[in-house]
Amino acid sequence: RRAHYLALRDRPAVTRDGIEITLLHNSGLVADLPMLNDTGAVGVGLFRTELQFMIASKLPRLSEQIELYAEAMRIVGDKPIVFRLLDIGGDKVVPYMRSAVEENPAMGWRSLRLALDRPGLLRTQVRALLMAANGRPLKILVPMVTETSEFRQARLVVAKEVERLRRAGEKVPEKLELGAMVEVPSLLFELDQLMPEADFVSIGSNDLVQFLTAADRANPRVARSYDPIALPRLRALRHVVESARRYGLPLTMCGELAGKPMEALALMAIGMTRLSMGPPSIGPIKEMVLGLDLEPIRRSVSAALLDGSDGVSIRELLGEWVERQ
Ligand code: PEP
Ligand code: MG
Repeated sequence: RRAHYLALRDRPAVTRDGIEITLLHNSGLVADLPMLNDTGAVGVGLFRTELQFMIASKLPRLSEQIELYAEAMRIVGDKPIVFRLLDIGGDKVVPYMRSAVEENPAMGWRSLRLALDRPGLLRTQVRALLMAANGRPLKILVPMVTETSEFRQARLVVAKEVERLRRAGEKVPEKLELGAMVEVPSLLFELDQLMPEADFVSIGSNDLVQFLTAADRANPRVARSYDPIALPRLRALRHVVESARRYGLPLTMCGELAGKPMEALALMAIGMTRLSMGPPSIGPIKEMVLGLDLEPIRRSVSAALLDGSDGVSIRELLGEWVERQ
């Protein structure tokens, strides 16, 4: 199989009917970045910076953070890489940072909430990213945004660090883009506030589906009961697609959905064209894209979503299309 997918490496991911799909890696370890050369992915859509914090025994210092980010940028070379700010808490435990025991850590003091309450931590990370970029373009993604005002606060921290660097006579990124993760349901109803303030957006389907269905992503007993591509979830995702299009922002799906064939097909059917996934999924997804006539599937899924015909199983509908093509 590996040789089979390797043969697809240099072929752009374009459907038979000419729709371009951008395939990207999810990563968090510098060690797996060289896999970009094997998969032919266009870049890294999500670099989970908390990994460095999770495997360390104490808080990584500024110099250690700079070193890791600079190494990551060196390995990806000219390809884009999106660094996500620390997403600590929930399922991502950093033992030396444990505070009070929480009854619902997924909905607790985590991620951006923690970062905004501990501005020193956030400032250090932003400083490390800016210094590692050393003048090159930089993309930063803000996780677990619940309200636009939090995203605004994060942008303020970044702007202050840029200014600080500039005053110190250091190089600042020639282009700095700040994106927001859509993974808290409330934000779905605030996209008209969020979109004008963001440079790009990414959907975190793992958390978004968990919160939409009130089913713990780490508890298969409940998580398996709710199909993430059933009508209600797909309608929520399509709402983000339409909003991003209206505001002209690039939208990437970076949750695990994007790396599973039927789920990826559902995402493409509602108009998503940028999919970020674990590196081993790139080959199979690209192969599917290359054999796909997407337009008729889009029409069919759009009709099902509009219909109000709640008996429809999107999974079955897509299954029929896959057999036909
Ligand atoms: C997500 O929530 O889908 C996501 C991409 O982030 P993580 O899995 O790291 O929470
Ligand atoms: Mg998440």
